[in-house]
Amino acid sequence: MSEFSLKTPGRWLYRSLRDNTMIEYEKNNLERSTLVFSPHQDDETLGCGGTIIRKKQAGADLKIVFMTDGSTSHSHLIPANKLKAIRAHEALAAAQKLGVEASDVIFLEVKDGTLANNQNQTIQRVIQIILNFLPEEIFIPYYQDGISDHNATNKIVVSALKKSGLNTTVYEYPIWFWNQWPWTDCGGDRKKLLTFLQKSLNSGLRFLNDFRCSVYVGDILELKRSALDQHKSQMIRLMNNSRWLTLGDVSNGEFLKCFFQETEIFYRYKIKV
Ligand SMILES: [Zn+2]
Repeated sequence: MSEFSLKTPGRWLYRSLRDNTMIEYEKNNLERSTLVFSPHQDDETLGCGGTIIRKKQAGADLKIVFMTDGSTSHSHLIPANKLKAIRAHEALAAAQKLGVEASDVIFLEVKDGTLANNQNQTIQRVIQIILNFLPEEIFIPYYQDGISDHNATNKIVVSALKKSGLNTTVYEYPIWFWNQWPWTDCGGDRKKLLTFLQKSLNSGLRFLNDFRCSVYVGDILELKRSALDQHKSQMIRLMNNSRWLTLGDVSNGEFLKCFFQETEIFYRYKIKV
């Protein structure tokens, strides 16, 4: 896989502006106990796999909670129950590469795509997990990530955290937020360009304003890559059918490269209780 490049003027501009406001995650905090909430089996590695590796190397107590069963990513090609089993298996293999034991992986198994419809029950389950573990840090998808299960994961965990009354630091990680200009291009559709630029400007401002915390992962990208490769159903075609789309197919591969930059970035804040 070729590397993430800053060769486009848009990316270079955003990165230059951002680098001035970025604060590096404090190394002393690596060992803090952590809960990572992942909507699907792969978001944990994409969004904060390098940070998980760093924290486990520092000896942190860390658990990964998978919110949905991931069963419908290829529903037109494989039965949901079959894919559910495959993705759970892949998630454990990826977790192992990240340094997380199977006993520290929790599957809530809400049906893929339905988290927004199951918020109340899921909040109760998340409160239990939070109160059992009492994490110092929590990682969740960015509140403006744009995909239903991702936004719902954010809402559910933030709500559970408020109800649990814990003074935990929250780190929001971007996933689908990357899939827009200047990180990926607009596909050359000039008709859509105006809406596209408007949207990009808004998201660009949020990008600069929110993502101010970074963790350096430049020297462990190979390990992060090997963890992501465990999510085979998302990385390669499990059957010889071009309709089986992979992460590498999104925006001609530019999307996937966003997760192999030398830093992982986070929107960090404390919940006011
Ligand atoms: Zn996802």
